[in-house]
Amino acid sequence: MKIDLHSHTHYSDGHLSPQELVMRAHQMQLDVLAITDHDTTQALADARAYQDTQKRALTIISGVEITTRWHGFDIHILGLNLDEHQPALINHLAMQSQTRIDRAQQMCAKLAKCGIEGVFDEAMVTVGQGQITRAHIAQVLVNRGVVSTFQGAFTKYLGKDKRAYVSAHWIDIATAIQWVHSAGGVAAIAHPASYDMKIKWLRRLIGEFVLHGGDGMEVTHPNMQATKKALLAELAIEYNLKAVVGSDFHFPSRWTELGKRLAISPELTPIWHNWDVLSQFNKEDV
Ligand code: AMP
Ligand code: MN
Ligand code: MN
Ligand code: MN
Repeated sequence: MKIDLHSHTHYSDGHLSPQELVMRAHQMQLDVLAITDHDTTQALADARAYQDTQKRALTIISGVEITTRWHGFDIHILGLNLDEHQPALINHLAMQSQTRIDRAQQMCAKLAKCGIEGVFDEAMVTVGQGQITRAHIAQVLVNRGVVSTFQGAFTKYLGKDKRAYVSAHWIDIATAIQWVHSAGGVAAIAHPASYDMKIKWLRRLIGEFVLHGGDGMEVTHPNMQATKKALLAELAIEYNLKAVVGSDFHFPSRWTELGKRLAISPELTPIWHNWDVLSQFNKEDV
């Protein structure tokens, strides 16, 4: 069974539409795909409607990547296999959406102070009905030639504590876990190796996440070094967290692809092993 539990569409900072993402999942021979846009589940309806017209099977898992704040870090929590129609969840994500807009406006006000005017309105054109992210702002800076690379926009302006950075009032980790659980899903720490924190802090993060009832953590990524992968597997086992595998796919590139290089150690318990939605698959496969 080929599975990928972390992907984005143009409803947040992914480049593909939900239909295009599903088409790509077919091309890559995926059996299971979770769509996990930043603080929105809007892509799921389009993705399912398109999948219903297709011959090739694909199980689409409802997901979301929730932004939280923890000791000055933006920590992303994946909510997986949840009910995206739950009214409370819809309300909570609408609140996150407002936080995103407020933060983007504040960041763009900081950019204006650096002489870079009108970025918010320009970014909103590409956001459409989705969620604004720093990636949208970065793209405007690249398009205008303010920076020469996308990465450069983060290094100079948008990254943590850079010139246009704003630390938003995101919810805390416990709240995100509670939202996911009350919508019937499981909660997992996204890309634990990418937070630029020392191992002592990572352990503290995982410890608190477990204390608040968190279920799993991502243990691999298409480009992850073997040593990092081994460390994450060790931590998942030590803290009794289930394993999540995902490419964090935003667009096709040399480095990331749906469902590629996501194999995990057999010592780990996959978070999806008891999901009813996958009951048609052979138990050994799952
Ligand atoms: P946001 O959720 O609005 O804070 O935006 C975060 C998104 O921006 C991430 O999901 C990445 O897709 C992208 N991003 C964040 N930091 C970087 C970086 N240093 N380089 C490239 N993309 C980044
Ligand atoms: Mn992103
Ligand atoms: Mn993320
Ligand atoms: Mn992501």
